[in-house]
Amino acid sequence: MVGEEPDLTKGTARPITVVGNPVLHREVKDVTAFDGELSALIDDMFQSMYAAEGVGLAANQIGVDLKVFVYDCPDDEGVRHIGHVINPKLEEYPADRRRELDDSNEGCLSVPTAYAELPRPDFAAVTGVDKGGRPIRVEGTGFFARCLLHETDHLYGTLYIDKLSKRDRKDALRQMAEGTPRYATVPNE
Ligand SMILES: [Zn+2]
Repeated sequence: MVGEEPDLTKGTARPITVVGNPVLHREVKDVTAFDGELSALIDDMFQSMYAAEGVGLAANQIGVDLKVFVYDCPDDEGVRHIGHVINPKLEEYPADRRRELDDSNEGCLSVPTAYAELPRPDFAAVTGVDKGGRPIRVEGTGFFARCLLHETDHLYGTLYIDKLSKRDRKDALRQMAEGTPRYATVPNE
């Protein structure tokens, strides 16, 4: 395991925003205050992610306009990665690495019950800071790389379905319309 399990005596699960909610479709704000409120937000985000059985969660998925994501996600070697990143920036794909695409299925708590194949690079690295404001860098391969890319995208207003072909996007939205999420969601107005 890389990282630390969160203290689950803290925090409360909140309902998940879904596609169509404006907070998911624009870049959210940089975090500038590293205080108790930020720690409490991260606790709530872990609780919300676990309640919805996700492997990653961005703050705008619980309606908060701040660049924070949390994750508890395995990579393709079976290593479990747990942590949070604040104000993440995606690094360029390393020039000395052979770029391979992984076209596994992807889903999103904000597009409940839908899945679609989406090619993603098999490696990703993000830099940012932790809740103490200290610089961090997180890198991953396989499914965990997909998670880092997916969560960073969220904070810049992009959902994975925005990267699909028109037809696949429509199909994902149809799956969502036909399914019933197993967790609480925020109704769209
Ligand atoms: Zn998502």
